[in-house]
Amino acid sequence: MNGSAGGAQAPQSAPRSAADAAQPQTPPKLIVVISVDQFSANLFAEYRPYFSSGFARLMQGAVFPSGYQSHAATETCPGHSTILTGDHPSRTGIIANTWYDLNAKRADKRIYCAEDESVSGSNSDHYTVSDRHLLVPTLGERMKDADPRTRVVSVAGKDRAAVMMGGHKVDQLWWWDGRKFTSYAGREVPPAVVRANKAVAAQIAHSEPPLALPPVCQARDRAVPVGSDGFTVGTGRFARKAGDYDAFRRSPEADASVLALAAALVQDMKLGQGPVTDILSVGASATDYVGHAYGTQGSEMCLQLLSLDRDLGQFFRVLDATGVDYVVALTADHGGNDLPERERMHAIPDAARSDPALAAKAMGARIAADLGLSGQPIYGGAPGDFWIDPTLSKKQHDAVLAEAVKLYSAHPQVAAVFTRAQIEATPAPKGPPESWSLIERAKDSFYAPRSGDFVVALKEWVTAISDPGPGKVATHGSFWNYDRRVPILFWRKGMNGFEQPLAVETVDIAPTLAALIHFPLTPGAVDGRCLDLDASAASSCPD
Ligand SMILES: [Zn+2]
Repeated sequence: MNGSAGGAQAPQSAPRSAADAAQPQTPPKLIVVISVDQFSANLFAEYRPYFSSGFARLMQGAVFPSGYQSHAATETCPGHSTILTGDHPSRTGIIANTWYDLNAKRADKRIYCAEDESVSGSNSDHYTVSDRHLLVPTLGERMKDADPRTRVVSVAGKDRAAVMMGGHKVDQLWWWDGRKFTSYAGREVPPAVVRANKAVAAQIAHSEPPLALPPVCQARDRAVPVGSDGFTVGTGRFARKAGDYDAFRRSPEADASVLALAAALVQDMKLGQGPVTDILSVGASATDYVGHAYGTQGSEMCLQLLSLDRDLGQFFRVLDATGVDYVVALTADHGGNDLPERERMHAIPDAARSDPALAAKAMGARIAADLGLSGQPIYGGAPGDFWIDPTLSKKQHDAVLAEAVKLYSAHPQVAAVFTRAQIEATPAPKGPPESWSLIERAKDSFYAPRSGDFVVALKEWVTAISDPGPGKVATHGSFWNYDRRVPILFWRKGMNGFEQPLAVETVDIAPTLAALIHFPLTPGAVDGRCLDLDASAASSCPD
């Protein structure tokens, strides 16, 4: 045999089925990693039958419906920090979207995950975007270190998504700041961004009529009253007034603009057409804003996901037209959960909103009164980390900790309270992430220099929004699998697809992609492992 695969020569051995055909062996020239913010495994399962474009293409590849953001703090910044580093938040250092540094020199002790708090005059709301809190390199950064000709490009609807997936050595990094696509100070604005900002500004200047409801969304079109103000969710169709930037951001229009910018950068920079493999990360953030504003089970999420499916399809067609051999990995930074008002209508009678008495301020006042202290003794929020006032004496600190553990543990909405000492004494979790205990999930989010003095896990089905309002009715961030479990999809032209329903992790994405470009990471260099994307007995991973 001369080995010419696919030739007219009759095979000598048993004929191979199409599914056994050789997989692509050469490294892809462009890696495209897409994070769909708040795209839970539950949403993927619900909408799989209705996808016909971009998602449908990815479903022909390697499908891992049970990917895990394995940690406890299932928020945007930690989640994005795992995807391209291959590391859990315990190693990336991104323990939450915001944490407290009570010894910080500035008045605002809250630290935003993607800020540089050393910039004078900044605070956690008005910050300078920075990569300094991310403690480990991304795949793009490693590729660039190995060969500086690699281009690293990151585009997202949120700054923290762009920064945590791009890393510290980016050629282009752009995020939507609420008004326009922007980057670090002093960066030259390339023509693709100038064009994108002009196009989006023109688009927002005009109003948008409500989207038409396809039959699958009509079935979900039911008003759900929320709170006492008489407002409802569940029947929205993304009608938008001219100039309404907030409505733009929480609509399918936002993801379309991010994908259009990413496509324009691919074209202008000729990504994938250089001497070495390039990498592009895309943060599609609108699904998260839609989830927070309207929950996951109404007409709004239905329209959002079907629109995103179409926009992804269009994005892939632009990539196809370049002729570049590219590989796509799509996942999410965390899952999500519907609003309790609708969950109660849909057979989960125990779904509830968190008791305002669980807030740090309310509980802190009680602890201070019990112990005869003045001032606020604890900072933070449930679910998640709490920090104890560092100006207290050791004796007072221990008394506050004991009282906080007692009061939180006794609350009927609390599943568990773990002290820093308990988490530190817990070994790093191993094995399938769905079987990890709650303290193991907390351990995976724990980074000693930033983590709190204790952590509170709320019970399943408790939504950590006590007082819902427009834009804020549902959330994620819990220890539970509806917030941890996300799809992981890999696709490349010519690849033979398969589905693996068992659990894998988002930290596996970076080593998997690294192996495809013959750039294996040293064993133990990252927390994740290489997933074999070759459907046959051969493997895409190193031996
Ligand atoms: Zn998110």
